[in-house]
Formats: sequence, structure tokens, C-alpha cells
Amino acid sequence: MYKRVLLKLSGEVLSGEGEKGFNIDKIIYLINELNSVLEYGTNIGIVIGAGNLFRGREMKELSPTIADQIGMLGTVINALYLKDLFEKHGLRTVVVSQVTSLPSIRPIHYDDINLYFDAGYLVIFAGGTSNPFFTTDTAAALRAVEMKADILIKGTKVSGIFDKDPKKFEDAIKFDKLTFDDAIEKELKIMDTEAFSICRRYNMKILVIDFFKKGNLLRAIREENVGTLVVP
Ligand code: UDP
Repeated sequence: MYKRVLLKLSGEVLSGEGEKGFNIDKIIYLINELNSVLEYGTNIGIVIGAGNLFRGREMKELSPTIADQIGMLGTVINALYLKDLFEKHGLRTVVVSQVTSLPSIRPIHYDDINLYFDAGYLVIFAGGTSNPFFTTDTAAALRAVEMKADILIKGTKVSGIFDKDPKKFEDAIKFDKLTFDDAIEKELKIMDTEAFSICRRYNMKILVIDFFKKGNLLRAIREENVGTLVVP
């Protein structure tokens, strides 16, 4: 069973697929999924995206550097929203970020991250990588390595990595296991090449799962056969 996990969730986990904003039912579902693994004492760090609010590349009327900064602030909004609802449901949570100084956000400090985990807190990493031109997948790869996670789990709306988009092609074939070299060479779109390449360099396994299938997070953490595993 994995003891320390970095979970990457796209903003749509908070709104529902193709939706914007927040859907409280989706967040209650997320809380239940997290509760089912926290009772085993697993340390969980979360990198949250902002696709439910802003994505830099969708704001074509703006300069990319500004649009991306707005996107990063979106991840901070999501993190605060989640922190409050998590705590109202009994999940002790700390939000860390380099991009804002707000009373409910702490700066990222490696020593403190271990203390938070030891004290049983969930840690939400907000603000992406702090740089425009990146995505929260790359932030997830960086944070997974920094927090010495056993694995990076990416929760998506599909059941793993396919040779083509399974939402568009009925004959798409799912991979059970891939190497980083395969994933990069085949230009598989499920994660950024930057994220794959950081994980390859630091031997950080990635597991891609369907987050919307109840119980999948626990199956993943129990190392059951679910999703697609990407290994060195
Ligand atoms: N972003 C950024 N740098 C980062 C991470 C995110 O500029 O390191 C911006 C970028 O505009 C991106 C937005 O924040 O579109 C939201 O992140 P992402 O698209 O990864 O969210 P998701 O699709 O996972 O919800």
C-alpha cells in the first residue's frame, strides 16, 4: 500500500466534466474518496488545477503571461474553497503556495511539509509551479518529487492512458503499463511532456486513474490493478 501520494486533480473534479465553477456534490464525492484512504494513514498532497475557473490558453484576448497568472490564481481560489469544505467535513488541511500571501495560505517549506503530514494534515499545493507557460501537471511532478511521494496519481475522467482519445474514438486501446520513454515518444496527451520528463528523471511512478469511478482512489493506493502505470 502506498504511504505517501501526490494526487493531481484537474479543476473539473470540482465542477463536473465540461462545467465551470463549483458543484457541491462533486466536492462531497471527493471528500468521501479521500476519507476512504486517509483512514489507512496515507499522507496525501494534492495539486489542484483551475480548469473549472480559468485556463490561460482559453483566454485568447489576453497576453499569455497575464492569462497564465490568472490561471495560477484560479488554483489558489480552488485550494481555499476545498480547504474550507474539507475542514467542515473533518479533514484537517493546510494550503501551501509560493504565489500569494494570504492569511490562510502558508509558504512552501520542505521541513514543514513533513510536520503537516506527521500531524495528519492533507496538504494542498496551490499556485502551480509559480511560472506562466506551465500547467498543474508539471507542478504535480515537481511537488511529488519534492514531497518524496511513492507515486503521483493523476485523477482523470478516463480509465487510464489510451493510444488515442477514448472520448472521441471507440477503438482506442488502453495501456496497462508504459515506460516514460514510450509515453514521451508516442506524445500521449494525458500529461505534459514536461511532467513525464521530470518524473522520468527522478524515478517518480505515475498512475492515471478514472477519478469518477467510486473506490478507484483506494484501489490505486492499495496497488490494485487499476488505470495505467507509467514507470521508468
Ligand atoms: N498555470 C500556469 N503555470 C503553472 C500552472 C498553471 O501558468 O505552473 C495556469 C495556466 O494558465 C493553466 C491554469 O493555470 O491553464 C490552470 O491550470 P491547468 O490548466 O493545469 O488546470 P487543469 O486543466 O488541471 O484544471
